[in-house]
Amino acid sequence: MTQYVYMFSEGNRDQKDLLGGKGANLAEMVNMGLPVPPGFTISTDACREYLKTGEVPAQVRVQVTRCLRGVEDQIGRRVGSKDEPLLLSVRSGAKFSMPGMMETVLNVGLNDQTVQALTRFSGDERFAWDSYRRLIQMFGKTVLDIDSDLFSDALDARKELVGAQSDIDLGVLDLQRIVEEYKQIVERESGAPFPQDPREQLDQAIEAVFKSWNTERARIYRRRERIPDDLGTAVNVQAMVFGNLGEGSGTGVCFTRDPASGHSGVYGDYLPNAQGEDVVAGIRNTLALADLERLDPTSYRQLRQAMRRLETHYRDLCDIEFTIERGHLWMLQTRVGKRTAAAAFRVATQLVDEQLITMDEALERVTGDQLNQLLFPQFDKDAERDLLAVGMGASPGAAVGEVVFDNATAIARTEAGADVILVRRETSPEDLPGMVVAAGVLTARGGKTSHAAVVARGMGMCAVVGADELAVDVPKQEIRVGERVINAGDVIAIDGKTGEVFLGDVSVVDSPVMTYIAEGMDAAMEQVGQDEEVRELVEAVDRLLTHADNRRRLRVRTNADTGEDAQRARARGAEGIGLCRTEHQFLGERRVFIERVILAKDDADRQAAFDELLPLQRADFVELLTVMDGLPTTIRLIDPPLHEFLPNITDLSVKVALAEERGESGPEVDRDREVLEAVRATHEQNPMLGLRGVRLGLKFPGLFALQIRAIAEAVVELRGKGLDPQPEIMVPLVGSVRELELVREEAEAILAEVGKDAGVTLDLPIGCMIELPRAAMTAHRIVRSADFFSFGTNDLTQTTWGFSRDDVETEFFTDYYNNGVLTISPFETLDQFGVGSLVDAGVQRGRSVKPELKTGVCGEHGGDPESIHFFHDHALDYVSCSPFRVPVARLEAGRAAVMEGKSGPGASA
Ligand code: PEP
Ligand code: MG
Repeated sequence: MTQYVYMFSEGNRDQKDLLGGKGANLAEMVNMGLPVPPGFTISTDACREYLKTGEVPAQVRVQVTRCLRGVEDQIGRRVGSKDEPLLLSVRSGAKFSMPGMMETVLNVGLNDQTVQALTRFSGDERFAWDSYRRLIQMFGKTVLDIDSDLFSDALDARKELVGAQSDIDLGVLDLQRIVEEYKQIVERESGAPFPQDPREQLDQAIEAVFKSWNTERARIYRRRERIPDDLGTAVNVQAMVFGNLGEGSGTGVCFTRDPASGHSGVYGDYLPNAQGEDVVAGIRNTLALADLERLDPTSYRQLRQAMRRLETHYRDLCDIEFTIERGHLWMLQTRVGKRTAAAAFRVATQLVDEQLITMDEALERVTGDQLNQLLFPQFDKDAERDLLAVGMGASPGAAVGEVVFDNATAIARTEAGADVILVRRETSPEDLPGMVVAAGVLTARGGKTSHAAVVARGMGMCAVVGADELAVDVPKQEIRVGERVINAGDVIAIDGKTGEVFLGDVSVVDSPVMTYIAEGMDAAMEQVGQDEEVRELVEAVDRLLTHADNRRRLRVRTNADTGEDAQRARARGAEGIGLCRTEHQFLGERRVFIERVILAKDDADRQAAFDELLPLQRADFVELLTVMDGLPTTIRLIDPPLHEFLPNITDLSVKVALAEERGESGPEVDRDREVLEAVRATHEQNPMLGLRGVRLGLKFPGLFALQIRAIAEAVVELRGKGLDPQPEIMVPLVGSVRELELVREEAEAILAEVGKDAGVTLDLPIGCMIELPRAAMTAHRIVRSADFFSFGTNDLTQTTWGFSRDDVETEFFTDYYNNGVLTISPFETLDQFGVGSLVDAGVQRGRSVKPELKTGVCGEHGGDPESIHFFHDHALDYVSCSPFRVPVARLEAGRAAVMEGKSGPGASA
């Protein structure tokens, strides 16, 4: 019989696949001897079965009985007991944390009888009836799918009737009435009475949690966080402990270090006399954790000890949920905490300094995406700013945008090109679609651990929470701050680090980490001044990046076409150019030369155009090779389809037609006519699969020759000046070894000739791009003529999938994400199974003939973290990416080296 249900004591933290993150960590805490309310976990296997068949496997019920009895024995109370009832919480818990995205049902086990018993047992009648009310409400919404407004409306109506300000002001009689009303709502809406049998409640709640794996917000969240849709969630069933049994009770969330800055200390929120959901929902503003020391010194001391033990055990920042029930501390959850990018870097180096982890492990704890976030600009402290309010900086960044109050407007305005700030009183998981598109989120209520804060931190988006000077009136679509009124559509700026909220736009400056990357440590330190926290951050980035550089095997080059780009990339640590796209040098004013090449009537005419181009090309290469002195510089011969250099066929047809209609004549009209004829003659239905790359070079003799000569002459000129230019000549879109042979013969002749004239030897490497499946599969033949390979994974993705790289992402990829064909665009993250296999085949086959063959990647994937790990694991020599991505690639290449073999599955099934 498959085991689907596990007592906490049967698991451990390494079983996240089976027990989910929450279940695995609860098991671990039990093993550590920490005070965890007893319980059990129903595995993700059971959920996957449920998702497949629509039914909870029959064995689950039987196994739940075994574990439920185990819990009853441990705690000495029974579910449904009329004396001392045991109540249960039923919570989701997937492998990867999805805060607030799935469902929870608390107080399972209450009914008309046990509510009386709970009154006696707790000595608090109000508490018992309030718990019962909460159960029916959560059960109704989550299990029975009843519109939750029906319950909150009934509650509000009752409050109004008795003149209660908040829930707390409702008395026992009021709550009993509400329970009656709630039961009526359930019966009316679901067609059956609220189930009185505790076991029935439990079984239905378990199924509802499984079902909530596929709520819309859960799916959106998974797509964004790249969590596979087929994992399923586990369900944790646990004895309830109560934080709402009066002032000696409470509930809280804490971190072993500050998840925003990384500072070690006492961070967290505490709510006396409350249930756990109240903290995360951000409904009531919380106390700081430090206040607990005053309220309950014993529990505080125990909690601090548990925090230290957990951090030592997990050797990382942990976040913890706890409840104090009448002076008894209970640990409800722990996990390695989500953190901001800055905290990730700082915590990693702090843990190294405390000798809890090694530098290699520290490198595993930070990501290229996090480094990228640290490069974002920040608000200029010296700019003029109109401060509206100060809340809590919950997730750093500087966001400026129009105020919007709901998901629909957030989505509509961003689609129209606007940046928006989603403003809410507090956020709930329903706000996720708006948060995904917003530049930032601002709430008036809630603490650093509120839903808004946790989700924003996870997504790396800017968030300010708990700005309680703001009166957010969603129905009126306005925010009032004292006398001032801010309407939907007004621009505000929020600082996710300081918590400041400004009216209007605020200008931004480079982040100090960016200054460090681009200009070095001294410049960064000058910018940082006395700010210790930022200083520590820049130093942490420096240490980890340096360690990555020492550990990585992959070299990092850049894709740059101009001296300026090359300069920028070199400053960021690029070790060469992996791709100079020379076609960019033929646009603008120089386009006419290509026109002349195409229109040429004979070879002499065409040669004349080349002769004019030669000095210009030489100057381009002199500039580039000067900046890249001593470093390999791959110059790709001209690649794109001809039409990119010619006027648009429709525009030109109209122009010629108009001229003819008006009876105009003269050299300009003649020329237009001539060009139009050429445009028509060269027009292609599928230009990306047409006359481009090496085909162009073979069709127009002299075109590649011009470029090769310009490179050769640039080398001679620079060597004459004592420099050390290292160009590599690269041929695009090769599919057959013969194509490359033809170009190589031509190139070698030119190099020999220029070399002879100058009295030097010019044996520059000549290689090719591997960007067609045929090239990858015949790499062992092509390599005979190639000194190196560079994988053009953009075209290789296009031609492997048969996806037009210019069209498909907007055409139908959204459908493909929704139905699970893709989890992310294969143009962004390498499709490892398909395109990756071709890259691997190309490398293997090439090296089967030339074991030392140098191989690199110059498609967009060269700057993508997940893809970089693949390239490391498959023994490529370098990646090449845009100048801005160079630091990210350096870091990820280092991480790939210390995490060898642990890369994920890539973009598609
Ligand atoms: C590629 O195809 O991956 C490549 C780098 O070339 P381009 O993007 O210029 O086609
Ligand atoms: Mg290409």
